[in-house]
Amino acid sequence: MSQVLVVVELVEGTVGKPTLELLTLARRIGDPVAVVLGEVPEAAAEWLGRYGASRVLAVTDPALGQYLVAPKAEALAQVAGSLGPAAVLLTSTAEGKEVAARLAVKLGCGLITDAVDVHADASTTQSVFAGAYTVRASVTHGAPVITVKPNAVAPEPAPETATVETVQVTISDAARAARIVDVQPKQASGRPELTEAAVVVSGGRGTGGDFAPVEQLADSLGAAVGASRAAVDSGWYPHAYQVGQTGKAVSPQLYIAAGISGAIQHRAGMQTSKAIVAVNKDAEAPIFALADLGVVGDLHAVLPAVADEVARRRS
Ligand SMILES: Cc1cc2nc3c(=O)[nH]c(=O)nc-3n(C[C@H](O)[C@H](O)[C@H](O)COP(=O)(O)OP(=O)(O)OC[C@H]3O[C@@H](n4cnc5c(N)ncnc54)[C@H](O)[C@@H]3O)c2cc1C
Repeated sequence: MSQVLVVVELVEGTVGKPTLELLTLARRIGDPVAVVLGEVPEAAAEWLGRYGASRVLAVTDPALGQYLVAPKAEALAQVAGSLGPAAVLLTSTAEGKEVAARLAVKLGCGLITDAVDVHADASTTQSVFAGAYTVRASVTHGAPVITVKPNAVAPEPAPETATVETVQVTISDAARAARIVDVQPKQASGRPELTEAAVVVSGGRGTGGDFAPVEQLADSLGAAVGASRAAVDSGWYPHAYQVGQTGKAVSPQLYIAAGISGAIQHRAGMQTSKAIVAVNKDAEAPIFALADLGVVGDLHAVLPAVADEVARRRS
């Protein structure tokens, strides 16, 4: 059976959910081989095995952590070169996409970014032009290098015993041009990462600057908080949380838009969400056209009521 290279994202030593999703998708094409750019903690190897990776390749060259993306692309190109995989899957993060692009150039293979599904023939589904079109795409040259948006699929276990193998690579001087001189960890909010969260609650201009109901509902659901550009430009929420064309693209199982009109630039960042709920006091707001469930009402009354009901049912 053909092998599919899955590039692993470790978050503080643990395997991130998007990687488990990649392993699930990779199994449709062939045997997943996980590649970790760094040391592989024992627990991480176990998780990778649990989701179908029988081989885990550990690339531990110190340059990988000291420089920007170039050494990662070089290392992956060497691993892929010796493995000859049927496809390479990465997560659609900013770094994942940059590494994927460089890797595709090095391998002389086609690249597909931001897939929302991957099929057994390594073709993909993508949502393009601000979600106005859904396309099926396949690479015509070489093994496809594919980045997949988080939440594309529910991770499904397929237990294997993972064997960890250390792989040596050679990192060129050219790839060491941009060294990382300082790293500041992001302040933990206790909420999931916006682009990976299964549930996102976003607030817009309709919050009037009061994000407390948005955060309260998000916390009752274990969700991430997002914001429209109008809310961000007003200084009500940091830009890192902006959803949309000039913000982050999210694709959660559930997206709750509160006090957001549904401008095309906002939709561009959330239209591939599996279910969309809109809370807006204007029954004519465009967001209702794409909502699976619409609530016409004042978010300052609706959101706390929903949060209270969620808490009541959980207790
Ligand atoms: C090049 C470009 C890039 C852009 N990129 C982005 C982007 O990345 N992300 C983004 O979001 N926008 C982006 N925009 C801006 C976008 O066009 C809209 O202006 C913006 O999304 C509007 O934000 P909003 O829906 O919060 O505000 P509004 O459009 O003002 O809508 C506010 C909504 O809140 C409702 N409301 C008011 N009070 C309440 C209440 N108490 N309870 C319930 N509902 C209430 C109103 O009925 C209204 O529908 C971009 C624009 C441009 C030109």
